[in-house]
Amino acid sequence: MPKIDYLRISLIDKCNFRCQYCMPEGSELNYVLNQELLTNAEILSLVQDVFIPLGFTKFRLTGGEPLLRPGVVELVRDLAQLPQTEDLAMTTNAFLLAKMAQPLYDAGLKRINISLDSLNPLTFDQIIGNRGKSRWQQTWSGILAAHRVGFDPLKLNVVVIPGINDTEVLDLAALSIERSWHIRFIEFMPIGNPDLFGKKAWIDSEELRHSIRQKWGLMESGVRGNGPADVFQIPHAKGTLGFISQMSECFCDRCNRVRLSADGWLRPCLLNETGQIDLKTALRNGVDPIDLQAQINQLLLLKPEINFKERDSGTEKGIYTRTMSQIGG
Ligand code: SAM
Ligand code: SF4
Repeated sequence: MPKIDYLRISLIDKCNFRCQYCMPEGSELNYVLNQELLTNAEILSLVQDVFIPLGFTKFRLTGGEPLLRPGVVELVRDLAQLPQTEDLAMTTNAFLLAKMAQPLYDAGLKRINISLDSLNPLTFDQIIGNRGKSRWQQTWSGILAAHRVGFDPLKLNVVVIPGINDTEVLDLAALSIERSWHIRFIEFMPIGNPDLFGKKAWIDSEELRHSIRQKWGLMESGVRGNGPADVFQIPHAKGTLGFISQMSECFCDRCNRVRLSADGWLRPCLLNETGQIDLKTALRNGVDPIDLQAQINQLLLLKPEINFKERDSGTEKGIYTRTMSQIGG
């Protein structure tokens, strides 16, 4: 089991997109009330007084859509200034990024992951559940702004959905040839939208690699992050291709992260509902940080070293009811 030193912090469970694999239209989402959200001061205090003393040094801000959170730039600044912060990153859909890229970068955010499931505006709007004016161009402008201000590495996350965007895998992979971007293909997970999953399931990463290999060739990259992606490269490309294969492979044994939800619940595992700690209530009740550290240490011991089948056996047909936007993906 690797050292658990990476905390993903959900800043908000709301989102300005309704991606069909995450927050499908028509689904009942009970958003966290504003007063139940951890405040910036509470997040900072948890990081500083509880997680850093436990050896956590890597933090990612996510959601929902983290750029919807008021005060996000100030929070980035406060977290980036902590001397123990070795890595501070964000995952965003980039819709609001064009204007925020520079302030976030100046505040100390240096790494960013952006979701982009399609280069085709019609498909993109279909995936994000948008029926109004296309949102593709503004999202793409956000990505270009992030590139311009110097986010490095800049990673694009693509959830591959059979029958919807799987025909674009080569076009998306090609983005890594001329740009030093990391394009990461994520196997669609049965979280949040069981209907979609039930009909079509996911596409194995190996199948995607096969088609990329046939077109350009594909080599294993020397760049191996500490995350779940298997990293490859098209020969002579400036960027890389990552494959996150949580459905066709099990990487639970190399998972180094825990997740803090927007309302302050600490989860040991994305797919495991048991053993959560309500850190917000504890904090508001004045529980001593030392006691919280002891509770978290116990939770980390529970972090499952279990295989893929066991991981899914606790749920009905391996379908997870809470969405990624609620858990903090
Ligand atoms: N709103 C931001 C975004 O989309 O980048 C951050 C939160 S989102 C929940 C984080 C990541 O989870 C995104 O890359 C998204 O594609 C991924 N995700 C959401 N639902 C998923 C699912 N059912 N299977 C695989 N990945 C999923
Ligand atoms: Fe919003 Fe991100 Fe979920 Fe899409 S994946 S609905 S952008 S939280």
